[in-house]
Amino acid sequence: MMTEAQFLQIQNLLSTIQEKSAFYRKKFEGIDLSSVKSREDFEKLPFSNKGDLREAYPLGLQAVPDREVVRIHSSSGTTGVPVIIPYTRQDVADWAEIFKRCYETAGITDLDRIQVTPGYGLWTAGIGFQTGAELLGAMVIPMGPGNTDKQIQMMTDLRSTVLCATSSYALLLAEEITRRGVKDQICLKKGVIGSERWGEKMRRRIANELGVKLYDIYGLTEIYGPGIAMSCDYECGMHYWDDYIYCEIIDPKTGEVLPEGQPGELVITTLRKQGAPLIRYRTHDLTRILPGECPCGSPYPRIDTLIGRTDDMIKVKGVNIFPGQIDELLREVEGVSSEYQVMIDHLGGRDIMTLFFETDAWSCREELETRVKLHFKAKIGIAIAAKAVSIGELPRSEKKSTRIFDNRY
Ligand code: ZN
Repeated sequence: MMTEAQFLQIQNLLSTIQEKSAFYRKKFEGIDLSSVKSREDFEKLPFSNKGDLREAYPLGLQAVPDREVVRIHSSSGTTGVPVIIPYTRQDVADWAEIFKRCYETAGITDLDRIQVTPGYGLWTAGIGFQTGAELLGAMVIPMGPGNTDKQIQMMTDLRSTVLCATSSYALLLAEEITRRGVKDQICLKKGVIGSERWGEKMRRRIANELGVKLYDIYGLTEIYGPGIAMSCDYECGMHYWDDYIYCEIIDPKTGEVLPEGQPGELVITTLRKQGAPLIRYRTHDLTRILPGECPCGSPYPRIDTLIGRTDDMIKVKGVNIFPGQIDELLREVEGVSSEYQVMIDHLGGRDIMTLFFETDAWSCREELETRVKLHFKAKIGIAIAAKAVSIGELPRSEKKSTRIFDNRY
C-alpha cells in the first residue's frame, strides 16, 4: 500500500533526482519522471541493484554538493568493489531518530545502559547503535566487537541492561558467561540482535543463557544502516518506518509487485535521504508485508522476520519456495522436528520434490507423512512426497540453504 503522504514524498524525490544525481540521470535516461502520477506509474520505474551502485564507485551516488556531505559509510562487497554511501548532516540525524524509535519499540529507555558490540568504522553498525542510544538519552558503552574478557567485565561492573550484537557474538558471550559462572552478576534485560539471519534454536539458546528478551533489528548500509525496522514485544515481524522508507515486495524472478501478505523480495525507496537517495532498491532479502495491525498498537506497518535471500529461492512446478517457509510449515505439524532436507528431481518430464523430516514418534510416521504432505499442499500449493526419518539422521547445519538439493540441472 502506498499512502497519500508517501506518494507526495516520492513525487518530490522524483522531481529533482535527475538534476541532483548523476547516477539516476543515467538510470532514468529517456524517462519523463513528471509523468509518474500514480503508484502504478511508479511501479514501472526500473529497479536499482547493488551491481549498479558498485559501478558508481567511489562517489557516483552523491546527490548533494560536496560541502553538504559530512560522512560516508561503505558496504564491503564480496566482489571487492565496495559501495560508498554519502550522508548529509540531516541523513545522520534522521538515522539517529529512526534508531531511537527502534529502541523505544523494544521498551528501552533513557535509564538503560546499552552495550554496543557491533563494529565501528566504515560499515554502519556500531555508530548507528550509538547515536540512536544517545538521542534516546541512554548510557552507551561503546565496546565494538571482540575482547570477551573486557566485554564481560564492563557488562558486570557497569551493569549493562541492553546488549546490541550479532546473533553469533551474542551466542559466544552467552556461552562464555555460562562457562565462567558469572550469570548472577549480569544485569542484562534485553538483547537487540541484528545483521544476520538466525534460527529459532539459536534464538532460544541466547535468550535462555543470557536470561533476556530478544529483539530483531533490520537494515542495510545502502539505506542508512541497521535501524529501519525493529520487532516489538509481540515478536510478530518487524515494524518499519514508513515515513522514511517505502517498501514493496516483488517476485524476484519476474519483478512483478506482489500483494500484501505474499512472500518475495523486499524493495526499498528512501523517502528522505539526501546524500544518496535510492529508488526501488532491490535488497535480495526475502520477507513479506504483514497485513493488519500489530497487537502492540504501533501505527507502523510490519515486514515479517526475514525468511532468506533471493539466492536461496527455488522454483518447483512453477511455484517459488523459500527455505523459511518450510521451517514455518514444519513447526505447525505436531510431532515433527525442525530439521529437514529437500531433494528435487526431474523425472518423467516433471518436478518431484521430496521433503525428509525428523520425528521421534516413529510408530505414527505414516500418519505424520500424510499430514506434512497435506499441510504443504494447503500452504504452498504443490504436491510433494514426505518422508519421515528418526531424530539425528539428517545432517545439522545453521545455513538453511544447504538443506536443499536441487538435482534437476
Ligand atoms: Zn508491534
